[in-house]
Amino acid sequence: MSILTDLIYAGSNAVAGLTEGAVNEAIAKHGGDAKIAFPDTAYFLPTIYAATGVKVTKLSDLPACVGVLKSLISNKEDLGEALNAGLATAVGAEIIEALKYVGGGNPYENEAGIGFVPDPIIRSLGVPLVTGDIPGVAVVLGKAENAQDVVSVVKDYQSKGLLTFLVGDVIEQVAEGGVKMGLEFRVIPLGHDVTAVIHVVTVAIRAALIFGNIQPGDLAGLLAYTKARVPAFVNTFGALNEVVVSAGAGAIALGFPVIVDVDLGENQVGGALESVTDHAETVKRSLELRSIKVKVKELPIHVAFASAFEGEIIRRAEMHAEIASEVKPAFELVVMKGLDEVEDHKITIIGEDIGADAPVSMALGTIVEVAGKKMQTDFEPVIERKIHHWFNYMEGVMHTGQRNLIRVRVSKEAYAKGVRLRDFAEVIYGMLMEEFSSVVDKCQITMITVPEKVTEQLNALAMPRYSARDERLLSMNDESVDKFYTCILCQSFAPSHCCVVTPERLGLCGAVSWLDAKATKELTPTGPCQPIEKTGCIDERLGVYKTVNETVGEATHGAVTSVTLYSIMTDPMTSCGCFECICGIMPEANGVVVVNREYKGMTPTGMTFGELASMTGGGVQTPGFMGHGRHFIASKKFISAEGGVQRIVWMPKELKDDVAKKLNKTAKELYGIENFTDMICDETIATESEAVLKFLEEKGHPALGLDPIM
Ligand code: SF4
Ligand code: ZN
Repeated sequence: MSILTDLIYAGSNAVAGLTEGAVNEAIAKHGGDAKIAFPDTAYFLPTIYAATGVKVTKLSDLPACVGVLKSLISNKEDLGEALNAGLATAVGAEIIEALKYVGGGNPYENEAGIGFVPDPIIRSLGVPLVTGDIPGVAVVLGKAENAQDVVSVVKDYQSKGLLTFLVGDVIEQVAEGGVKMGLEFRVIPLGHDVTAVIHVVTVAIRAALIFGNIQPGDLAGLLAYTKARVPAFVNTFGALNEVVVSAGAGAIALGFPVIVDVDLGENQVGGALESVTDHAETVKRSLELRSIKVKVKELPIHVAFASAFEGEIIRRAEMHAEIASEVKPAFELVVMKGLDEVEDHKITIIGEDIGADAPVSMALGTIVEVAGKKMQTDFEPVIERKIHHWFNYMEGVMHTGQRNLIRVRVSKEAYAKGVRLRDFAEVIYGMLMEEFSSVVDKCQITMITVPEKVTEQLNALAMPRYSARDERLLSMNDESVDKFYTCILCQSFAPSHCCVVTPERLGLCGAVSWLDAKATKELTPTGPCQPIEKTGCIDERLGVYKTVNETVGEATHGAVTSVTLYSIMTDPMTSCGCFECICGIMPEANGVVVVNREYKGMTPTGMTFGELASMTGGGVQTPGFMGHGRHFIASKKFISAEGGVQRIVWMPKELKDDVAKKLNKTAKELYGIENFTDMICDETIATESEAVLKFLEEKGHPALGLDPIM
């Protein structure tokens, strides 16, 4: 046998033995009926579920799985067979990790790692992965001989926006090297035991189930999906033992190349298992192997600039300067001008810059004037909202809000590195010219810090502009436009998914409004958003258009040929998996419940968000269930075919409060109902079907009197 297959089998057999022992021990201790589950997932033990279709829920389900695991280890001298043994290691690791959760506690509470990654996090990664904002997924494991090597590699991935998962002693090495960690920094420590690597494997596997519509038990389909669509790879640091090697074989079986930093000589497998002993080459080779392209923009600023810093939070104590519109006047405005009115790359700062005194509270008006032959006023807000992301990409800068309701914080560290207002202007200029070059030919930026002048410009220039836009948005509805747009960005994960974006129905991820789609079409004419001429209405109530059906049919390569815009029961729109909310019918209440991704508790349907979500997604149509954006809830077109918003009987409190103002307005306008949200139940009132019904009856909820929903 080759050394490699030898090592793989040795590792798989060792893990099989450990798994069997651990299962027997757990059953002896807790009994076969004891429950076993990972937290916050609808996919049971995901590897086992996806590969075999078996839903493990209690300990007595496990011995059969151990049997399957052993059957994958043929001990035959053949690389393909050995890779299967690698999958056995993955199954074993999954069982060993799941056993840690028996009893319901959080075994990772006092660990450096987070352990199992819940479903909602995977859903939230959908959009950044498809847009290339997160260009790939790195798994870094082991212990580097020289800590600085792994620190540099991880920092490099971070600066390129990759999502990096850490397993083993590299966690401490990277932490001590000053790398900021956590989901918000895209560097996620999983755990110390090598079995913790399963927690990133199940992320890939659940992506196939959530977005790819891969059916549980379809192992070949699963492996094809992860290989083609999950841009992941593995870097190991330090000496390899047999368990690491067999886990690596499992990764290779899923299509993830493994790069090790020891010399494997002739045991390398080109493209799948390679030695790179010079750590300066690790990142480059890893990205090449997975064909990961990284968009990095070099900007003339004093701190790192990467999407990986977007979630960084700057607390008061770490803050050097703050711009907070509730304290001092502040606003951001992008405004279109004539070509001869703009001097390209002109940056003007009026008033004091950020100074040495700290913490300081400043006023700030940022006026971005753009000109271009193809520029339209409709693109102003699309560009303006980007400022939020761009400022957040700066290391040591935090930005929230938009327009004249904003907060910007600059950390002490960023100030010490030299960040001043000019850096902000350079970021706007550089990114705007990069991302909007097809519509913007010239751009000049003015930043004002004199409070009176900020107020003056706010009142004279910004407020009238904001109001004009709001009026335009209000006057814009599905009837007033002549085009809708497709968005197929999510097809890289959900091949048969297509959103139809209309003025009154934004994309289900919440990130693509009709104006965004329109701008995207202008920016990338052959890109993901294509216009649908609004002609050939077949059914106004359901929202059926001949052109919509044809375009969606083309966009989904024939997978979906009949879709309605306004119904949840008849040919609803497909869901990819990254929806902000899910709406599902509650037949006994003759209405629907709407749940957001962040809500972890139970709903009156007897299912959590994750369980509801697992029934839809993957680009298929599921009558009775529908993913959608938060802002769609108050839309006059929200399931209007079934009676509209008055069907909503239950929402989590946070969501209800968030949409209350707009939803109440819609209910009042359409049905004359006052304070409609008071009639909607939430988890603080009841989650049990009967109690919910009682509440609805007491409130005289309108859904109870409507035609039967099904
Ligand atoms: Fe994906 Fe739809 Fe959002 Fe486009 S609009 S990114 S297809 S969810
Ligand atoms: Zn999506």
